[in-house]
Amino acid sequence: MFRVRDQLRALIDGSKTSQALVDACLARIARDDRGDDGIGAFLDVDDAGARAIAAASDARRATGQTRGPLDGVVVAVKDNLCQRGRPTTAGSRVLAGWRAPYDATCVARLRAAGAVVVGKTNLDEFGMGSSTERSAFFVAKNPWDRARTPGGSSGGAAAAVAAGFGGAGLGTDTGGSVRQPAAFCGVVGVKPTYGRVSRHGVVAFASSLDQVGVVADDVFGAALLLSAVAGVDPHDATTSTRPLPSLLGDDVGGAGVRGLRVGVPRGLWAEGGVEDVILRALDESCARLAADGAVIVDVALPHAAHAVATYYVLATAEASSNLSRYEGIRYGPRRGPPEGGGAELGALYEATRALFGAEVRRRILLGTFVLSAGFYDAYVAQAQRVRRRIALDFHDAFGAADVLLLPTTPTLPFRLGDKTSDPLAMYLGDLFTLPASLAGLPAASVPVGTTTAGGPTTLPLGLQLVGRPFDEPTLFRALRALAVDVTLPGDVT
Ligand code: GLN
Repeated sequence: MFRVRDQLRALIDGSKTSQALVDACLARIARDDRGDDGIGAFLDVDDAGARAIAAASDARRATGQTRGPLDGVVVAVKDNLCQRGRPTTAGSRVLAGWRAPYDATCVARLRAAGAVVVGKTNLDEFGMGSSTERSAFFVAKNPWDRARTPGGSSGGAAAAVAAGFGGAGLGTDTGGSVRQPAAFCGVVGVKPTYGRVSRHGVVAFASSLDQVGVVADDVFGAALLLSAVAGVDPHDATTSTRPLPSLLGDDVGGAGVRGLRVGVPRGLWAEGGVEDVILRALDESCARLAADGAVIVDVALPHAAHAVATYYVLATAEASSNLSRYEGIRYGPRRGPPEGGGAELGALYEATRALFGAEVRRRILLGTFVLSAGFYDAYVAQAQRVRRRIALDFHDAFGAADVLLLPTTPTLPFRLGDKTSDPLAMYLGDLFTLPASLAGLPAASVPVGTTTAGGPTTLPLGLQLVGRPFDEPTLFRALRALAVDVTLPGDVT
């Protein structure tokens, strides 16, 4: 891997320059990311830009003017986040060739902190998917086993971190798109509380759920990145004015998780459907946390079982509205008749929207249907009521627990192609990440070990923690205790 921690140490002790880090990273990308067998984590690599930013960082360091811990550190950014002057496709042909005219707030903040963005990472089109197989350009593969998915939709970001193409990355998480790929790739993925990080410059999918999240190769890296990008932003009225407290080692004195109440909502998987190896990892993790002084308690989330149906009504409804902006005029190359209105305008819309992939079309159609006058009450209004119930369940659970522990995914990373012909099977895999999204809560996935239970290859195991609203510090306290370092077999640092 290419840990943020190690990059930082090398920069501070002078053993490596940021330019040397960038060169090493670019060499790895050239070797492992390209071609049919390559991992396919990046849609765009900015060699020249990254080298120039690294040179500027090195110059600052030489004169003692570094901007903080991320100065000179190599990171990657999901390709649905605008980076000024760079291609931003959101994994869609509709945006192929479009260059963002401004930085997303999260990207601007990373850059202001001196981080070196090496490229834009692959994703399911508009973030709609759980395997990165819905990218309009190419599939991303899991660095642990290239026949398997890295997860999605931030599969490129998680794969890039796992493969050592950068120590950390920004992703987005609408219903699990940071946490699920993090679990599948053996890295840390954090979705903060809704409102912690600005959505300005994020290509919108479902605005009431979309959040920028971070992936990193350890909890420390995730904390640094999240701290850099969080905070109120006048460009996004849903951002919170609450300052983000320190996520790093407020328990250095040794508090650890002693006395922390960890709630486990076992009812959510009582009916089965979760692979044994994941439940075993959960039990072992409970035992480990208990040995460290945490108190494991049973909690119930009775309405969370409806999260999949609720999410796929609300997210598609919002998507059908958000994606109506792609009409061939404001974004991307114009593909219809050049002039005129009337029938020609219709042809322009059609030519543009023909570029949407099958999954995006399915969601626009579903979303438009559930929003239509005759069905709104039965679907959207009902889903909003269930969403509220799910949030209340969490509120109740947090009376008895300080943080919740549950699987991130019901399965190990599945094989490429296994679920592409069965959208419902793909959606059901999101069961454990959707409840926290619907409730707007901070949640994260961390590696807790590896297994060979899935076949001949070693695969990572991840588990999820969910925190109270705006209580990222407690979430990180538990994350630090839960995380186990896992390293890709054969990895060289
Ligand atoms: N897998 C979920 C979906 O397909 C979540 C995606 C996301 O979080 N962007 O919608």
